[in-house]
Amino acid sequence: MHRPGEMRERALDVTVAEGYGNAVIGVREGAQVHLDVRLESLHDGILVSADVDTIALGECVRCLDDVSLPIEVEIQELFAYSVDEAFDYTVVGDHVDLEPLVRDAVVMSLPFQPVCRPDCPGLDPETGERLADFPDRKPREVIDPRWSALAGLQLTEQDVEGSAVADAAAADREKRS
Ligand SMILES: [Zn+2]
Repeated sequence: MHRPGEMRERALDVTVAEGYGNAVIGVREGAQVHLDVRLESLHDGILVSADVDTIALGECVRCLDDVSLPIEVEIQELFAYSVDEAFDYTVVGDHVDLEPLVRDAVVMSLPFQPVCRPDCPGLDPETGERLADFPDRKPREVIDPRWSALAGLQLTEQDVEGSAVADAAAADREKRS
């Protein structure tokens, strides 16, 4: 502290005490987070740069299979010596608390819709089976529920024949009258 130009590097392995993320995807309690940290003394405070490595666990939003996602993020933030609205973080005592910084960076890097693989075909809409287990199954045409009411209006072949007969009968009556 207060020695501009000095620099320290540290490798840290931290066990996550409280998980990051949400139920679908996140770094779970007890997970390991590896940090390669560089601390540089500046006039205003301590500049912290770090590479963060960890594993997020969750489930595929399409097929609900478990997903294990390596997370690599870089962070850089100045921890100011004095409380100043220009800086979000301050040196407290002679410490910098990296936890909120790491948490925010990791959470921001999590995908909104994690998938087990980019082309995951998901679940069969009728049977609920994982389509990846049945690569030969032909994808069925799934009717958008908003249009499904119209499916009931589709004419069957019989209807068409019936109406053709009715039309013919009507034409017949017209001819006779
Ligand atoms: Zn999947």
